[in-house]
Amino acid sequence: MQQKIRCCLSALGFILIFAETLRRVVADRLAHALSGLCCCCGLDSDTQTTLCSHCLAGLPRVRRACPLCGLSKESVSEGDSSDPHEQGPASVCARCLTQAPVFSLCRSAFAYSSPIDQLITDYKFNERLDIGAGLSDELGRVMETYYSVSEGSSGVNGKPSAVIATPLHPRRLRQRGFDQAQFIARRVARRLALPDLSKRVARIRHTTPQTETKTKAERQQNLRCAFEIKNRERLSGHSHVLVIDDVITTTATVSSLTTVLRDAGIAKVDVWGIARAELRSAR
Ligand SMILES: [Zn+2]
Ligand SMILES: [Zn+2]
Repeated sequence: MQQKIRCCLSALGFILIFAETLRRVVADRLAHALSGLCCCCGLDSDTQTTLCSHCLAGLPRVRRACPLCGLSKESVSEGDSSDPHEQGPASVCARCLTQAPVFSLCRSAFAYSSPIDQLITDYKFNERLDIGAGLSDELGRVMETYYSVSEGSSGVNGKPSAVIATPLHPRRLRQRGFDQAQFIARRVARRLALPDLSKRVARIRHTTPQTETKTKAERQQNLRCAFEIKNRERLSGHSHVLVIDDVITTTATVSSLTTVLRDAGIAKVDVWGIARAELRSAR
């Protein structure tokens, strides 16, 4: 009997400690996110987001990107916050001319260079949700501009009908504590008034991070059968969707996911990320 009481008390103690830790973490994050401070410089933000206009204008953008794979011909660290892909001539790169990607386009809000790389690291690994919110809001703004211009001009590239985050394997989700792409997708979906169908797709294989693979063959093997559609019926009726990721580097992950979505009957997949990283041996 005494042992039972001791067990109950230690379990209760553990629950109380856990609840207090959780309360402090949530309060801390909420306070930061709602403080009205810029997540980059720490000063009052003069915008509706957690990135002030000064920091936003100084963040690196992708310039003169290939309209298919999104790789830039140059990245600069200053300039305005207009659609970065509209700066300079946009021509399809030699690699895409040789072999077009499976997705219809790949775009991003920023170039993956300093200080975006550090901001994303803080967001992902230190759970700085204020940074995630600021970067996601800017991605949503760039996407909104892109699709409104596209619809207005030709209608060829009309607005997609749903948003899907690149899924995280449950094991990595447990390690990291939150799903960074899902957080971005949710904010983008809200901004574009689209349904978030991320839960309809799952990562069923725990793969090596793509940045740790060396060759294209290794990357393809690593991602073979990595994704699965969980509910095909919920995806039916969607012929054009958005896939959202935080950083797009080799495009092997988003290509693999696009193939699965296209096999499920989705004709067109647009890929968007917070940042596009240059990798010479990409795809
Ligand atoms: Zn700032
Ligand atoms: Zn290209």
